[in-house]
Amino acid sequence: VSTETVPLIDHHCHEVAAGDLDRPAFELLINEGFDPPAAGTSHLDTPIGLAVRRWCAPVLDLEPHVSAEEYVARRSELGAQEVNRRLLGGAGVGALLLDLGYRPGDALSPAAMSGLTGGRWFEVVRLEKAAEAVAARGVEADDYPDELAGYLEDAAASAVGFKSIVAYRGGFAFDPSPPARADVVRAAAAWLHDAGSGRARLEDPVLLRHAIWTGVELARPRGFPIQFHSGFGDPDLRLHLTDPSLLTDLVLSLRDLGVNVVFLHCYPYHREAGYLAAVLPNVYFDIGPMLNYTGPSASSVLAQALELAPFTRQLYSSDAFGLAELHYLGAVLFRRALGRVLEAWIASDECSPDDAERIVGLLSRENARRIYPLGGE
Ligand SMILES: [Zn+2]
Repeated sequence: VSTETVPLIDHHCHEVAAGDLDRPAFELLINEGFDPPAAGTSHLDTPIGLAVRRWCAPVLDLEPHVSAEEYVARRSELGAQEVNRRLLGGAGVGALLLDLGYRPGDALSPAAMSGLTGGRWFEVVRLEKAAEAVAARGVEADDYPDELAGYLEDAAASAVGFKSIVAYRGGFAFDPSPPARADVVRAAAAWLHDAGSGRARLEDPVLLRHAIWTGVELARPRGFPIQFHSGFGDPDLRLHLTDPSLLTDLVLSLRDLGVNVVFLHCYPYHREAGYLAAVLPNVYFDIGPMLNYTGPSASSVLAQALELAPFTRQLYSSDAFGLAELHYLGAVLFRRALGRVLEAWIASDECSPDDAERIVGLLSRENARRIYPLGGE
């Protein structure tokens, strides 16, 4: 199957650091937590560490499986610019959908990134970040609903979708109905009072729901999907509250409005996401960073994600953040994992080579092209 050559659409990823990284900075970016490794250990003694040393080392002219010390030393020797050029250029990604709402310190610009990958880039707008930006620039509570709608309308003009990180702000067990305007204004008054004293983090459940529903109203006529972070992430999460099936009632409401939902990451709830995709017409998902973080086990996680879900509902993403390695590795591991799963299906005569080719195209790019307004991409 042609997994090695198909140009991918990475429908959820972030910017990479532009400057050189020392060992502690590299260690932090190769881990979803915020803490340095425990004394006497390394974040590279992990499945993702094995995968970087195996697959990224040759791109930096090293033997596969070089030591972590040699890898990081070679990285410094080449310099971040050359490392980013080689790894982003080698990923074979035809289009990047960037979430610019959370960025590394000295991020390479989207234009520079798409220049290095050789493809186009598109933006996905974070709803909670937009609400925080509206609060930060100063607004009366009465005007807050209209100001947020106006802000998102402007942002939507150059975007292809919205994203919610409500998973990080209390999780999915919230009232799925749109809040009344009076309740929003009341909650906004309390929040904006706090925001005035520098505490602008959006955590109020009414305002979180309102941001999502404001996004839904704008997504509908534009044909935007709404992405939801779910499952695996940093320790700001309470993991059990980010199971996509907790969002079933909201997904049903959005089905009736014709708005697609894309669950990002999902692990360890990728089977729950696959179930929702199997029974509801507006559910899409990916296993994003799990390809990288499970390294040698990427094929078994992808095989689980392919157990039940329609082939028309799963998308490719790297969820790469900070390190060009994560863009490259995501692509390599996706190609390898999908190839291995489908070749096993062909070998046991469960799937024809033609069907396997079609599945490669769907997951790699066609599903993304169908649900995001990417123009000619
Ligand atoms: Zn992400």
